[in-house]
Amino acid sequence: MSGQSLKKQSKSINDRLARPMRSLRISITNRCNFNCFYCKPASKSAAGECGIPSQLSYGEIVKLTRIFRDLGVNNVRLTGGEPLIRPDVNKLIQSLKGIPGINEVTLTTNGFHLESQLQQLIDAGLDRINMSLDSFQPERFYRLTGKKNLNKVLRGLKKLLNEPAVHPIKINTVVIRGFNDDEVLDFADWAASSGQTVRFIEFMPLEKGLTWKKSELLLSSEIKEIISQKYSLIPLNNYRHDTAEKFQLKNSGGKIGFISSISHPFCNSCDRIRLTADGRVKACLFSYDETDLTPSIRPVFKPEQLKELIKTNFQTRWEGGCEKLQQGSYDFQRQSRTMSDIGG
Ligand code: SAM
Ligand code: SF4
Repeated sequence: MSGQSLKKQSKSINDRLARPMRSLRISITNRCNFNCFYCKPASKSAAGECGIPSQLSYGEIVKLTRIFRDLGVNNVRLTGGEPLIRPDVNKLIQSLKGIPGINEVTLTTNGFHLESQLQQLIDAGLDRINMSLDSFQPERFYRLTGKKNLNKVLRGLKKLLNEPAVHPIKINTVVIRGFNDDEVLDFADWAASSGQTVRFIEFMPLEKGLTWKKSELLLSSEIKEIISQKYSLIPLNNYRHDTAEKFQLKNSGGKIGFISSISHPFCNSCDRIRLTADGRVKACLFSYDETDLTPSIRPVFKPEQLKELIKTNFQTRWEGGCEKLQQGSYDFQRQSRTMSDIGG
């Protein structure tokens, strides 16, 4: 493809509220080796793992990413479920990095397999890693995830700290009142001592809001107050499509971000689209509407039809689920998937 035609094709389509499509989140599996209670569907967590028979192949994901690129996407995040439990993720990364116009390929992981896979991810050209971690306490980590291997996760994090090729590191921490809110300062300390970023995420209601209780939601404003007891937070510039409000911890290289999906929705600047592991597009984490792409993928891959399906889904997307939540007009009963099933 010539540089000129690529330039033309990567001009983004906009939705009806003039928001561009730039960022693609691909769930490469809805399976996970952890059972975080706020993330997995309650009915499936007891079984340990959920799974789907018809997940997209890597070849299909790469072909679809080219179509998303033609519609304006320029960065891709691999997620799940836990992306690192799917074999050969490095090969997928390498292929995605080879797509002209895709400037950045990043990954979100629970960190369990980082220790063993980090080097091959870096060799494949991965740009950055976000790691999810909600507790530094082994017993609490076990109650949250169902895994006793906090040490293994921390060894992965240590290894990550020694690999500037995939920095800056962002740690994602969901804070739940009465569960891990007493560790907010421990995470801020980690950011200050490592010079990396911790982003606190407000607990969100998914899967009919079954696990979610408003009383357990700790607002970003409350987290800020806790951090301010020890650190001065210096506001940093935010870019239009940033989901996190960013701050520098004074006198350290560490940064703190607040992802305030509930108290300060960022729907009006959202530039994301999601592809689920089973081949559906979802233009908003909370939307009820998904478009199944698989009939246009198998048995024959039909690029023009796929382009139209993706375009229609994105162009008709609503103002945003978090906005609706704030207005009190979100219908929990119509949401059917949790984060692990959509791709967080
Ligand atoms: N397994 C990977 C991980 O844990 O990083 C990637 C997938 S996970 C679904 C992506 C992110 O979604 C994690 O940071 C997790 O904490 C977040 N998440 C899951 N359920 C959530 C909820 N109900 N509210 C807020 N964040 C949630
Ligand atoms: Fe798995 Fe990540 Fe969900 Fe935890 S947050 S259950 S690690 S997908």
